[in-house]
Amino acid sequence: MTQTADQILFEKAKRHIPGGVNSPVRAFAGVGGTPVFISRASGAYMYDTDGRAYIDYVGSWGPMILGHGHPKVIDAVKAAADDGLSFGAPTPFETTMADIIADIVPSIELVRMVSSGTEATMSAIRLARGYTGRDKIVKFEGCYHGHSDSLLVKAGSGMLDIGEPTSKGVPADFAKHTLTLPYNDVDALTAAFEKFGDELACVIVEPIAGNMNMVIPSQDFHDTLRALCDKHGVVLIFDEVMTGFRVGLGGAQKHFNITPDLTTFGKIIGAGLPVGAFGGKREIMECIAPLGGVYQAGTLSGNPLAMRAGKAMFDELTKDGFYDALSDKTAKLVNGLQALADKHGVDFASCHVGGMFGIYFNKTLPQNFAEVSKCDSQKFAKFFHEMLKRGVYLAPSAFEAAFMSIAHTDEDIEKTLAAADEAFAALV
Ligand code: PMP
Repeated sequence: MTQTADQILFEKAKRHIPGGVNSPVRAFAGVGGTPVFISRASGAYMYDTDGRAYIDYVGSWGPMILGHGHPKVIDAVKAAADDGLSFGAPTPFETTMADIIADIVPSIELVRMVSSGTEATMSAIRLARGYTGRDKIVKFEGCYHGHSDSLLVKAGSGMLDIGEPTSKGVPADFAKHTLTLPYNDVDALTAAFEKFGDELACVIVEPIAGNMNMVIPSQDFHDTLRALCDKHGVVLIFDEVMTGFRVGLGGAQKHFNITPDLTTFGKIIGAGLPVGAFGGKREIMECIAPLGGVYQAGTLSGNPLAMRAGKAMFDELTKDGFYDALSDKTAKLVNGLQALADKHGVDFASCHVGGMFGIYFNKTLPQNFAEVSKCDSQKFAKFFHEMLKRGVYLAPSAFEAAFMSIAHTDEDIEKTLAAADEAFAALV
C-alpha cells in the first residue's frame, strides 16, 4: 500500500525525534492514526503539506484567538524582527506588556515574563514556597500545569493519553510534597485543609479545567478554596495558562469573581510566540530576585518579538464586543453539535465559556476527572477521525478542551456542523 505524505513525514520525523514529535499530544496517541503535518495556516484554517485545508479548533492550544496570521500581529512581528531578535537587556515593550496585563487583571500588581507556561507555574510554586516557608502544595486530579517535577503528579493532558498520570523520573521525595485532591469536590478540600492547612505553601488550580477535557467547577468550590487559603495563610495560584484572556478578557478569575494571590499565564500573551508570565500580589512578588531571595531568571524572558506580537493582539482583544462575538460563535457551534448528536441519538454533552469549549461522548456533563474518564473515548476517537477526513481539526484527544477564534466565520461553523452531521451518522 502506498504511504500518505503524512505517513512518510512521520516515519522521517521518528528517525531523530522521540516518537516523531516535540510534544506528546501531537502524536495522536489518544486517537490513533498518523498526525497531520502542517505547512502553514491562515485565519481559521490550517493547511497540510499537500495543501489540504482544515478548519482549526485547536488554535495552537489556545493562543490563536485572532485566528492564524492576523495581519496586525504579523506586521508587529516583522517590525520587531527588523529591530533585532533578543537583547538580554530591558526593553520598553516589556513594560508595556506588564502595564496591559495589570490594567486588565486587577489581581496583578507585579508580573514577571517567562518563556512557557511550565516556567510560569514552576516559578509561581517556588515563589509560594519561598514566601510561606512551607513545602507542601495541593493540586487537583486531572489538572495539568506543565511538566515540572512537583506538578507531574496525577496530571492531565498528554499524560492521560499514555495512561501514566504520574511521570517516571519524578523523585518520590518531590512527589511526597504534592497532595492531589479530586477536582470540584468541596468536602475533600475542606477535609484536606483541616488536616494539612497550616503546612501548605500553595494550592494551584486550573480555575476552569482544560486538560481533562473541559470542566467548569462550581462557584462553591472556588469560594471555599479562597476562604480556606485565607484562613490558613496558603497562597492561591490560579493557573490561567489556558483560560486567561480566553474565557473572557478578565479570565476565569473574573468569571468566578475570585481574587487569587498569584496567577500564571501562557502562550496567549505572545499571540503564538513562546511566552508565559506569572504575577499577583506585590508583597509576594517582591520575594523574587533581584528584590528578594527566590531566584528566577530567563535569557529569552520578555522577548521583544513576543511582547510586540502580544501588544498587537491585546489591541484587538480590548475592542468593544470582542468577547461577545467570540462567545456567540462558540455557542453556535456547540449548540449545533448538541442538536445533531440528539438527532442521531448519540449520547453527547458539551460546555463552553467564551472561546473555550468541551465535548463529551456521555449523557451528562462530567464534573471531575473520575467522571471524564468514564466518557466514551473510543467514540470520541472515531468522531475525531470522521471530522478530520472532512477537513475539521479537533484536539486529537478526549482529554483536551477546544478553542474558537474570532476568524471563524458563520460559514466555517456551518461547514463544521455539516461534517458533524455525517460524522455522528457514522457513529451509529
Ligand atoms: N498550565 C496549563 C493550564 C496548561 O494548559 C499548560 C499547557 N497547555 C501549561 C500550564 C504548560 O504550558 P507550556 O506547554 O507552555 O509549558
